[in-house]
Amino acid sequence: TVVTRFAPSPTGFLHIGGARTALFNWLYARHFGGKALLRIEDTDKARSTQEAIDAILDGLEWLGLDYDEEPVFQSERAARHAEVAFKLLEAGHAYRCYATSEELEQMRAEQRAARKPLRYDGRWRHRDPSEAPAGAPFVVRLKTPEEGSLVIEDAVQGRVEVKNAEIDDYILLRSDGSPTYMLAVVVDDHDMGVTHVIRGDDHLNNAFRQLPIYRAMHDVEGGWDDPVYAHIPLIHGADGAKLSKRHGAMGVDAYRDEMGLLPEAVSNYLLRLGWGHGDQEIFSRDEAVELFDLPAVGKSASRFDLKKLANMNGQYMREADDARLADLAAPRIAALEPGFDAAKHRDLLIAAMPSLKARAKNMDELAQGALFLFRQRPLPLDDKAAVLLQAEGAHALLGDVASRLDAADDWAAGPLEDNLKAMAEERELGLGKIAQPLRAALTGQSTSPGIFDVLVLLGREESLARIRDHAG
Ligand code: GLU
Repeated sequence: TVVTRFAPSPTGFLHIGGARTALFNWLYARHFGGKALLRIEDTDKARSTQEAIDAILDGLEWLGLDYDEEPVFQSERAARHAEVAFKLLEAGHAYRCYATSEELEQMRAEQRAARKPLRYDGRWRHRDPSEAPAGAPFVVRLKTPEEGSLVIEDAVQGRVEVKNAEIDDYILLRSDGSPTYMLAVVVDDHDMGVTHVIRGDDHLNNAFRQLPIYRAMHDVEGGWDDPVYAHIPLIHGADGAKLSKRHGAMGVDAYRDEMGLLPEAVSNYLLRLGWGHGDQEIFSRDEAVELFDLPAVGKSASRFDLKKLANMNGQYMREADDARLADLAAPRIAALEPGFDAAKHRDLLIAAMPSLKARAKNMDELAQGALFLFRQRPLPLDDKAAVLLQAEGAHALLGDVASRLDAADDWAAGPLEDNLKAMAEERELGLGKIAQPLRAALTGQSTSPGIFDVLVLLGREESLARIRDHAG
């Protein structure tokens, strides 16, 4: 069965690239009915923070990515990593290196002078540990193959080959007994039963250092089969340059909180970033699970386009459930309008949602667009609304509108529209000439949902009061 893992280092927020890696791993596991696992790679104690761990867990949950087991914390597994290093040592696949840092610095200086690649030269590979001073500190290095080459059939990159001569005998265990990243990743992936390593292609080079550990351990005790590697191309900005904050390379929490995006829109956008299925743009989660596979992941870097994401979000907003949107918008409205009472106004907000969500591309626009419903009289006026209401004849016109509407029997959009259309005809005015000042009086704005919807949402009493605030 398929087992994937997402293995973030908690040194910062869950950024867009990490979120996409998480999504691809999750989808791949779900597609094959396998397991999706999470591993927090917190071995860099100086740079890993609890805050970052929380942000990652929170971001994954927001995106609807659930995991089949409790997260594994890499830092808790150091003893197991060391155990594997010593197994390799005993079996002759690794050796103790007693070279001092001064000695290695000297070695590198010579390599630099000779314009050779900087690589550990294997000086302790064939020496006997008894040659070292008693009690001297040592590191454990992997005895990597010297001849031939290593080929990886990467599920995204295709066949990639690296000469073994280019891979030096790198360190598995430091002199303080702590594991290196290379060792920790392989041991954890093996112990977690990971079958598919799907990650950014910045890790492709590492695969050529990690695979030899599997091979050596397979030789030692069996059962260490090569995983399938899939290295997915990095994400670039819309201008093709490396993704930076300017392009929207912020934490997933900022997409939610600052940009007011819906998780399903972000998730759909991430899916399309490097994966495609014909020219289809919108995929439900179920569809994505059904269709996702690695062969359709592109080989070239994808471009992150904030505008496209914003537009996609607008599409998802229109389809989102009204009550859910109301609950998401409520805290934003409350922060802007003290008169708003989330419990008391919930029904009104839900009723208004079909007209509000059609006009909003994100939660912030949605909240802004809803404010007029909850403002207290006298309403603040935006500039355009103020001009409309000060125009000659506006007060008198609104006075007439108020009397007509006051007499209306049926406070519903259709009859209200008939009523005002009749008024426009009698006065030989376009309906807009009435609707504009009416909208200004009802909302304090020059734009809003349809004016008859607004009348219905506000109700007879509040509508008439708002109109009369500007009627002469
Ligand atoms: N912890 C690594 C990172 O955040 C990922 C390691 C891996 O996927 O093998 O870049």
